[in-house]
Amino acid sequence: MKNEYLLDKLNEAASLFSHPISRTDLKNLRKNNVGFPSESVYESRFGSWNKAKSLAGLDLIPKHGAGTERAGRKKYKEKWLLEKLHEARVFLGRDLRRNDMKDLCKLKIGFPSSDVYENRFGSWNKALVIAGLPIWKKSRSPNNRNVTLHLRFEVLERDRFKCQYCGRTPQDGAKLVADHIVPFSKGGKTVLENLITSCFECNSGKKDSILDILAQKKKASQ
Ligand SMILES: [Zn+2]
Repeated sequence: MKNEYLLDKLNEAASLFSHPISRTDLKNLRKNNVGFPSESVYESRFGSWNKAKSLAGLDLIPKHGAGTERAGRKKYKEKWLLEKLHEARVFLGRDLRRNDMKDLCKLKIGFPSSDVYENRFGSWNKALVIAGLPIWKKSRSPNNRNVTLHLRFEVLERDRFKCQYCGRTPQDGAKLVADHIVPFSKGGKTVLENLITSCFECNSGKKDSILDILAQKKKASQ
């Protein structure tokens, strides 16, 4: 990691707090998996935590400007969070669900969790609205990938609540979903005839999950 990158990151981290950033703050950020270098990296690279802060220009804030600085940082954090949502949407190539941000956060590639958005904006959907992004909707349309609760029930009922791939039922611990026979990404419609009851395990081997998307990206870059 280059010094410049480290100092940029420290500035970015500092912007997330309304008070001067401490070692513990950075530690906590790392616990939330938002992709910051560890405080010990700064100490070993720059001699001490305070030296790193000084080099990052973080001790140069005039006292009388502290109030404005604080407001500025708060704004920056919101802007940063909203930008991350747009980034996540581009990354996944589809509209965002709340769980996406949880999964992306776990990958430790710099995305905050959905909890962060709920705390900051009041709710997940509110954050999407403020970011100008569409809310994930489940509407009963053949051209909508998402299966409504009602249609899902029709599919499961027709298939007698049994995974049509492995035969397991909820009594066997299977979590049943309605799966597209012709995948939606290949032009399959969201209609009863193109849906089949599948357990979560059988289904997840075929779906465009985040891990699949990652694998595809990796493949494409090789
Ligand atoms: Zn199954």
